Amino acid sequence: MTNPAPDSIPALLFGDLWQYAPAPEKPDFVKFEKRYGHFINGKFVEGENYFASINPATEETLLEVATADEKMVDQAVQAARQAYEKVWRKLSGTERGKYLYRIGRLIQENAMELAILESMDNGKPIKETRDIDVPLCAAHFLYYAGWADKLSYAFPGANPSPIGVAGQIIPWNFPLLMLAWKLAPALAAGNTVVLKPAETTPLTAMKIAEILQKAELPAGVVNIINGAGASGAALVRHPDVNKIAFTGSTEVGKIIQRNIAGTPKRLTLELGGKGANIIFEDAALDQAVEGIVNGIFFNQGQVCCAGSRLLVQESVAEQVVAKLKVRMASLRVGDPLDKNTDVGAINSRQQMEKIGGLVAQGEREGAHLWQCDCQLPAHGFFFRPSIFTEVAMSHTIAQEEIFGPVLSILTFRTPAEAVEKANNTQYGLSAGIWSDKGSKLFKVAGALRAGVVWGNTYNKFDPASPFGGYKESGFGREGGLQGLYPYLKL
Ligand code: NAP
Ligand code: MG
Repeated sequence: MTNPAPDSIPALLFGDLWQYAPAPEKPDFVKFEKRYGHFINGKFVEGENYFASINPATEETLLEVATADEKMVDQAVQAARQAYEKVWRKLSGTERGKYLYRIGRLIQENAMELAILESMDNGKPIKETRDIDVPLCAAHFLYYAGWADKLSYAFPGANPSPIGVAGQIIPWNFPLLMLAWKLAPALAAGNTVVLKPAETTPLTAMKIAEILQKAELPAGVVNIINGAGASGAALVRHPDVNKIAFTGSTEVGKIIQRNIAGTPKRLTLELGGKGANIIFEDAALDQAVEGIVNGIFFNQGQVCCAGSRLLVQESVAEQVVAKLKVRMASLRVGDPLDKNTDVGAINSRQQMEKIGGLVAQGEREGAHLWQCDCQLPAHGFFFRPSIFTEVAMSHTIAQEEIFGPVLSILTFRTPAEAVEKANNTQYGLSAGIWSDKGSKLFKVAGALRAGVVWGNTYNKFDPASPFGGYKESGFGREGGLQGLYPYLKL
């Protein structure tokens, strides 16, 4: 049988026959303040220089948050220090664990509200926040709750003790999940925290602050400051912070590393990526196509471990691209609160322009662009799911992280060539391998310089599984037993 003509089948299948009625999640019952300062020493405090956080799907202002200056950062660090010395370090692991369990359960109890708020502030589809972000966020607290009273078994003979005050800075792509990845291991290990969410996604961190109050977490154990990059930089500079944990761009990661050089502060960096998703000719191709779609269109491609470089074996390349186009034509792009939406809004105008700029550059450099011809909403930051064929390794779109729903497709002939191309990047965060042969999966996985390698799947996360990078993707691991190391003196 010949391959389906990719442009005719979707119209047939998904044109008039498969129209979905709108199924929006109702945001009526969610509650949040229109203005938040900061959360310091167990209380919400007023701040200065308020700025707006918008809903990227509507461009309407959702809430305003304050900007933490040096003085506010100092207050937060002092609160964390007091709580560390007077309360948290003295509690037994069993007691710390009880708080973490309580926080995890409260997140589960408030799951729907958190999911809706995360969709509104970030732009990601409700089916992702509901089924992935929020459950995983709770799972991280519950997982690390289990370690809190077992540290001496986890590190036998090492007599593990906490480090002190951790400054944690997180990005906008997974606001709740990154918060959980940072807070849970730090608290389980006995540290106190000052956390700064990203300026475009402060909302769910403020809701978590409410949850921390409900859980009666001792005041000052977790402090959350709002603000932009300068507030993060002030936190990094503060002399009484013992450890910095950062997730975000490689560029800012380098600045932070420079700023703390020569100080005793510890550092972990989780930075960008340009993950290779490798499809061998013996793979189950339809399954692989689902994995390609999940790899690059999950969270609008704004994922550090996205499978943004597709490496397909030459013998099946044409077939895979044809199947991919058919599958992409059925992607529903639009209202993040609609339960049928597959691809939501890009987080900010700035990010959308960055994606647009790189796509234009891809075309200028000679790659061939194909985009879904779906209807985009009139307002909001939406970007068509896009793929590039005829991509060369030297193209900017094969090297730079686009952080959007844009896939660069390259081909290879032999496993060795696949490995060489996959490793030919400044990054080393993630990769995927699709093959029918288990031995091939393991052999190739072993040769890839990437922190996480998925076999016949992609973008699977579990709190028990360590995550982190090589090269310019950063250092240190989050998740699993390994995620405790950065927060302990051993
Ligand atoms: P970013 O600038 O690195 O921001 C990450 C966090 O660091 C945010 O909370 C940010 O605050 C803060 N920050 C900015 N400048 C800082 C400084 N000098 N010192 C301390 N903290 C600072 O990342 P972005 O602007 O959100 O995104 C830019 C690119 O980063 C993306 O296009 C993507 O390539 C990459 N990225 C990677 C990840 C990942 O998971 N690895 C996540 C997001 C983005 P503000 O947000 O308030 O500026
Ligand atoms: Mg927002």
